[in-house]
Amino acid sequence: MSAIDDSRKFDVAIVGGGPAGTATGIALQNIGVGRVFLAEAGSYSKPKIGESIPPDTRKLFQRLNIANAFEQQDHEPCLGSFSSWGSAQLGFNDNLFNPYGAGWHLDRRRFDRFMADQFKQRGGHLACETRFASVSVEHNTPYPLQLSFDDQPPVRCRFVVDATGQSAIVARRFGAQPKMQDTMLSIAAYFDCKDTDLNTLKLTLLEAIDLGWWYCASIPNNQLVVSLTTDAHIAKEHGLKDPRNWFALLNQSAHVAERVHSLAPPAHLHYWKTPSSLLNPPAGNGWLAVGDAASCYDPISSQGVYKALATGLKAAHAIADWLDNKPTTLAEYRQYIGNEFINYLSQREYFYQQEQRWHEAAFWQQRRAS
Ligand SMILES: Cc1cc2nc3c(=O)[nH]c(=O)nc-3n(C[C@H](O)[C@H](O)[C@H](O)COP(=O)(O)OP(=O)(O)OC[C@H]3O[C@@H](n4cnc5c(N)ncnc54)[C@H](O)[C@@H]3O)c2cc1C
Repeated sequence: MSAIDDSRKFDVAIVGGGPAGTATGIALQNIGVGRVFLAEAGSYSKPKIGESIPPDTRKLFQRLNIANAFEQQDHEPCLGSFSSWGSAQLGFNDNLFNPYGAGWHLDRRRFDRFMADQFKQRGGHLACETRFASVSVEHNTPYPLQLSFDDQPPVRCRFVVDATGQSAIVARRFGAQPKMQDTMLSIAAYFDCKDTDLNTLKLTLLEAIDLGWWYCASIPNNQLVVSLTTDAHIAKEHGLKDPRNWFALLNQSAHVAERVHSLAPPAHLHYWKTPSSLLNPPAGNGWLAVGDAASCYDPISSQGVYKALATGLKAAHAIADWLDNKPTTLAEYRQYIGNEFINYLSQREYFYQQEQRWHEAAFWQQRRAS
């Protein structure tokens, strides 16, 4: 390993500056863990998917000591949701009756940048446009891990956090592998609502169909996101990555089509893999994974950002104990990630069981089998 000057030696290095990485960094700074470095491949300039967060995320903002600063960010409130699930009729769930109040539709680019700023304000070292390349280990030295980056000098650290999202690229270098429980695909379009008052309807809409389910939500900057979640083989069979087929299917929907019928159809579609998976193991000696790197949840749960913050909080305490020569908390962290995943799977199963209209449809058969 190369000689590295003291300014590039850290107690903890976090790779990935999404909500999980920044929450871990903020929590580490809050509990007074020494020098923390965070490497983010991007620069918070690109739009990002994953915007609906539930009302009880408020309690995590409080535990991170960022609740007031977050409120000042003025993200769109989410007042409740309509759903046609298990029946053609629309049901309504009003956040008015939620003890935590309304949820939010985040502007993810702004939110992720806000979290990174909170980390920096607490004394964290943030390095944007710094893409992780490799990790090597040298035993019996105070800073045994060396992280290398594309086009940036390496850093040394005592502990490394994988917060790289679905890729879990750091944890894989330690031999961990995501165990896939289910794999789906979300195909989305962003509609411009500038000249209409449609975007004043701050209510999420969910609609099950035989091929999967539609999601429609108002997002900041006068836009409406509409996405179809289905299986990759169904998308292929029906040519759903082709905007003409995707819009034809949208037009057949009972409720979502009504929301967008007066809007100009966007020219492009965007797609993402949306797996349910658990990293095995989610932590080892000198490293752990947080957020999607540790486990991925179906977007139907709207729990991705919540989980990112919750695992960040939990991880910070496990890391502080590990650095303090109390390694058992790392085993508790592994247990926590596994238990949360089991809870998530049973909630997901319950949710998909509520839809019994299409017994012969491949999408619903697959959900019942997985
Ligand atoms: C279609 C879709 C819809 C979704 N809808 C919702 C929703 O409504 N509500 C919700 O809560 N969640 C939703 N999610 C999930 C949510 O987006 C994720 O769970 C959440 O972003 C996870 O946060 P994270 O910090 O773990 O990972 P990410 O947000 O993926 O952040 C990972 C970060 O790591 C960086 N990175 C990656 N590789 C490297 C590298 N080599 N070096 C340095 N940096 C690297 C990336 O640039 C990125 O900033 C949705 C996801 C999808 C795909």
